[in-house]
Amino acid sequence: MLNIVISGAPGSGKGTQSAIIVENYGLTHISTGDMLREEIKNGTENGKKAEVLINDGKLVPDEMIIAMLHDQVQKHINAGDTKGFIFDGFPRTAAQAVALDNMLHELETEVSCMLHMQVDHELLIERLLNRGKTSGRADDNLETIQKRLDVYNSQTLPVIEHYKNSGRYKAACNNSSVEACFAQVKEIIDSL
Ligand code: AMP
Repeated sequence: MLNIVISGAPGSGKGTQSAIIVENYGLTHISTGDMLREEIKNGTENGKKAEVLINDGKLVPDEMIIAMLHDQVQKHINAGDTKGFIFDGFPRTAAQAVALDNMLHELETEVSCMLHMQVDHELLIERLLNRGKTSGRADDNLETIQKRLDVYNSQTLPVIEHYKNSGRYKAACNNSSVEACFAQVKEIIDSL
């Protein structure tokens, strides 16, 4: 199985690159942000708890997101419909990274690599504000964007070390075009 963690700040192009990776490599895309937005849309208990935190730029609790991710992974494994996953927006904390390793270990597989999308700070803000004009996302406004970037720098950036320490860290620059970024991503995946 090929299992990729795609990481990077909000607005770094994780969703866009994930879609192209799915098209080219047939992996199963699991976006925890999309999962939470679906819960909110369906008005579930988890959705109600998550909405307040998301709109305030904060992370939802580890236990909630780990349980949701576990259900999704298990569902695809049971259905036998996947040749690997691309985890988009997960893990966002050190505890989530450990939980993912354990989860995949139980399934006799592992994270093949973490792909880190690198984008300059000013460009991230510009892209997120532009996305906010059409995304309809309550968290794509300047105040929440700044909070999300702070949370990213303090809680998620350290997760990189988890993958660096185990030799599974790869970086791609996404300051220019989608195509230029995918060329780097492709080279990385093909070398795994
Ligand atoms: P995203 O679509 O990945 O930018 O996620 C939107 C929001 O959902 C984030 O700002 C968090 O509030 C929440 N979220 C998504 N994934 C996670 C996660 N792995 N852990 C905690 N909160 C998450």
